[in-house]
Amino acid sequence: MSLTFNIAIDGHSSCGKSTIAKSIALKYGMRYIDTGAMYRAITLYFMRNNIIKNKQVDFALLSDSLDKITINFQFNSELKKSETFLNNENVESIIRGFEVSDNVSIIAQIKEVREKLILLQRAIGKSKNVVMDGRDIGTKVFPDARLKLFVTAKAKIRAQRRFDELTVKGERVTFDEILQNLNERDDYDTNRDINPLMQAEDAVLIDNSALSIQDQNDLIDNLINTKK
Ligand code: C5P
Repeated sequence: MSLTFNIAIDGHSSCGKSTIAKSIALKYGMRYIDTGAMYRAITLYFMRNNIIKNKQVDFALLSDSLDKITINFQFNSELKKSETFLNNENVESIIRGFEVSDNVSIIAQIKEVREKLILLQRAIGKSKNVVMDGRDIGTKVFPDARLKLFVTAKAKIRAQRRFDELTVKGERVTFDEILQNLNERDDYDTNRDINPLMQAEDAVLIDNSALSIQDQNDLIDNLINTKK
């Protein structure tokens, strides 16, 4: 059974938003859009082209570059997941690395970057069967989404989950570096001037610090059923 409305999922870094969104997409025949991946792809482009260097942004270079960036998602039927493409290059793996994570929240503060991505996100949302996760989906991108979730968990629990994920992939990073990165990103995302991370008034708060995936799925299924 396919839903014909959009679902907005916002929340803190590494709290499992994408796991929730993917599971909703699969179950209800919706399109999943990971807006964090879009910010990460732009960040990667900027890192490669020296538009951000040592955390300093070169705004003169930036304004000419945005039109040269295209981002899209393609479904990988072998891996059964959607992958992010930056100017036709599959960047799915590299954008999840620590270096991109360390720069992305600086880039996400920039007005021109947000304007470009919000236009793209709204265009995708016109099909009305999209589940989108990010930081400003319920407040800015789809303020009229029928269901809005705001997901969080204790910082140490989120850092441990992320640490496990990255070390399995062979990335050399310590728990403390990850915890610091999460806290920094939350701080940037919550305190920035443009579209800061906040819970929309009509969003349902889910703190999954002590919730099993199954309990979380059941809770969300119940919420979706009340919106049909
Ligand atoms: O969701 P993810 O952790 O991959 O997002 C990476 C970063 O992109 C966030 O820390 C945030 O700075 C930025 N972001 C944003 N608005 C969104 C999605 C992500 O500012 N809608």
